[in-house]
Amino acid sequence: MGDGILDKINRPLKDLRLSVTDRCNFRCRYCMPEEIFGHDYPFLTSDKILSFEETERLTRIFVNLGVRKVRITGGEPLLRKNLPQLIHSLNSIEKVEDISITTNGSLLKKFAPLLFEAGLRRVTVSLDSLNDERFYQMNGNKSKVSKVLDGIQAASEVGLKVKVNMVVQKGKNDQDIIPMASYFKKNKHTLRFIEYMDVGNSNGWSMTEVVTKQEILERIGEIMPLELIEPNYVGEVATRYRYIDSDQEIGIISSVTDAFCSTCSRARVSAEGKLYTCLFASEGYDLRHLLRSEKSDEEITNKISDIWNRRIDRYSDERSNGNSPKNRDKVEMSHIGG
Ligand code: SAM
Ligand code: SF4
Ligand code: SF4
Repeated sequence: MGDGILDKINRPLKDLRLSVTDRCNFRCRYCMPEEIFGHDYPFLTSDKILSFEETERLTRIFVNLGVRKVRITGGEPLLRKNLPQLIHSLNSIEKVEDISITTNGSLLKKFAPLLFEAGLRRVTVSLDSLNDERFYQMNGNKSKVSKVLDGIQAASEVGLKVKVNMVVQKGKNDQDIIPMASYFKKNKHTLRFIEYMDVGNSNGWSMTEVVTKQEILERIGEIMPLELIEPNYVGEVATRYRYIDSDQEIGIISSVTDAFCSTCSRARVSAEGKLYTCLFASEGYDLRHLLRSEKSDEEITNKISDIWNRRIDRYSDERSNGNSPKNRDKVEMSHIGG
């Protein structure tokens, strides 16, 4: 099979997001609220989770179909035992140009050297506030700020390039936009603001809690003027801006108020091996079943190709047009990976 497949609206398959666990040591209210993901929640048992061998085999198949970038996510990916081993094996796949992970940073201080040794060069760390009280409220009382900042520092010191993700929720942490921007401008890490999204069914999302891209830009721009800069590549999720008095940049991921479905080239595979072609999907396709059957790589390749060829997902565009499917049962972000 040659490189490159297109979906129904001509979008190539280029990025693969692999969730390696549905578990997390945080309970962020916008993702895994404690009252739903408390002690009785039916997390995946280990026999249901793809092994590293299965994940590597699948990644090779995706690479043959055009994938060049791989992001490891979760749940909290650093909870997955021996994760550096997986990074090492994925890094050895020819044609994989970029591997990164998204983490809440709480275990990063411990793992940063091992991740670097395994070949990782980039990490995205999620941090929603520099204020302990608000951060505790956002993450379900699981971590103080300094733990994550220590992780960021450790990552930086071993040579990992660090980006920071901040989900902005009105009335919860929007007062932290400027302190976060100033702090990471000074510390020279790219900060990306994420509009609070209506992923899953459990966070009680409401449009009234979204701080829009426009508002974020205006608030920062009043104090630290910004200019728009070119995307690094087609399909980049964050719109980039640079402070006019420095070479430091920020990004805004505006999936609610300025959707970017037309260039979405991302496939997601959950820890149990289900393929999702949109973050807001309800159903995934069971690839684990194929991997654990007698199917050849070619047969699995054809199946994935078939699914991608029929893809028409554009949920955020539809939401913007007021046409998003109502009452859809959506997969949880912690299951599918961010
Ligand atoms: N646990 C890791 C972390 O938090 O970085 C990786 C998984 S997490 C699901 C991936 C990203 O999704 C994080 O940056 C998180 O802040 C973001 N996220 C989760 N729920 C969200 C929501 N409702 N709206 C916007 N972003 C969300
Ligand atoms: Fe865990 Fe990440 Fe979800 Fe927070 S956003 S609960 S850290 S998976
Ligand atoms: Fe891609 Fe779905 Fe997000 Fe649109 S809504 S950008 S199709 S993941």
